[in-house]
Amino acid sequence: MTWEPVIGLEIHVQLKTRTKMFCRCAAGFGAGENTQTCPVCLGFPGALPVANRTAVEWTIRLGLALGCEIAERAVFSRKNYFYPDLPKGYQISQYDLPSCIDGKMILPTSEGDRVIGIVRAHLEEDAAKTVHVGGRTGRIGGADYSLVDYNRGGTPLVEIVTAPDVRSAEEAKRFLQLLRQTIVELGISDAEMEKGTLRVDANVSVRPQSSDELRTRTELKNMNSFNFVARGIEAEVERQVAVWGSGGEVKQETFDFDAATGALTPRRAKEEADDYRYFPEPDLVPVEPPAELVERLRTELPELPAARIRRIERKLDLERATVLVTGGLDALWEQTVAVGAERVAAANVIANNVVGAGVAPAAVPARELARLVEARERLPRAAFDEAIAKLADPGFSADPYLAQEAVSDTDELEPIVARVLEANPGHVEAYRGGKEGLLGFFVGQVMKETQGKANARVVSELVRAKLSA
Ligand SMILES: [Zn+2]
Repeated sequence: MTWEPVIGLEIHVQLKTRTKMFCRCAAGFGAGENTQTCPVCLGFPGALPVANRTAVEWTIRLGLALGCEIAERAVFSRKNYFYPDLPKGYQISQYDLPSCIDGKMILPTSEGDRVIGIVRAHLEEDAAKTVHVGGRTGRIGGADYSLVDYNRGGTPLVEIVTAPDVRSAEEAKRFLQLLRQTIVELGISDAEMEKGTLRVDANVSVRPQSSDELRTRTELKNMNSFNFVARGIEAEVERQVAVWGSGGEVKQETFDFDAATGALTPRRAKEEADDYRYFPEPDLVPVEPPAELVERLRTELPELPAARIRRIERKLDLERATVLVTGGLDALWEQTVAVGAERVAAANVIANNVVGAGVAPAAVPARELARLVEARERLPRAAFDEAIAKLADPGFSADPYLAQEAVSDTDELEPIVARVLEANPGHVEAYRGGKEGLLGFFVGQVMKETQGKANARVVSELVRAKLSA
């Protein structure tokens, strides 16, 4: 039987507001532990929360970008549970009346647009950060003691919940990359998984292909990169297919994915007590954004990444367009092409060389980059790489690099090619026997002989001609 994965994603985004969600403590990283706290975010009796206006507006902005309906009335509730990272004994979160509902995100693919439904996006506060010291797993069970940093407690989070519309691990990854870029461009979060400002949980089930049933799902947590999300989902899909295939039944469970070993470890059931006794937060008024505000935020939306991928695809191709847009590179590409660079070459140089050199795309002078793109095959490799690495230096000019044209003179290169072939008779024989991938080896040897000054394209033609002679 062929099985189809059914995947829904829950994404937490930490907003980069200056202050916390319900108090005026700074919300930034990096300060000493427990220095950014006050009676409100430490849950002192009698302290009253006040909602952060910017966080509310940013949530609406995100909801609009995700095609959501914006609620005329959203309500904060108390989600009750006890844990040391939650000094009030409850988390304030939107529950049955969230700010944003019923949206969708378009994922451009080679088979047309995939539509991933957005069930809701709601605003809540983050818990504090706990570190469990001692013990093997880093979890509270078996730890010698735990430390709590309340600086993170009360910072604003938006939780985005997708419909179970994602059909593969790869699709989950592409969706998340596009969502992340959208969030970053809206200017509401840095959305960095490594730093925990973007966190992803996945709900996974499988079903026989082309059925529309929904079988028992499991939840995956603790995946801190897009690749780990994809690998975690893949491992879980494989596990479920094996369970159903051997006549067993998938149980509802929550797993931690260990990226180092690829193992899925079930959480103990008692960590999942689900009776949160939600009730409306009596200390906060409902969120009732004026219609004019919502309309203004709607008109302020920039052209979103999904639309740009489709627009750029028409001048390039889907794969390159996706890489450029989700990498935040398409503005530089458009400027570089506008001053005359060839489209595909410019895309390749930007996505590979500029990114590889760690150069910030916004700081690159497009005109100089276009000159380097145009000259890239005539320049010695080393000179080209150095020029790319220095693109963002103030006042960068391509002139000194363009002056170092690569050696293209065949009279000069032929004897070197002959020498390299003579020195590697085994490789020559293998190449002639069909191992044409060895061409790169010969070119590399010639480049080495010439200290990188030879024109690689000319060398490659010479080698090929000599070997087929
Ligand atoms: Zn505070």
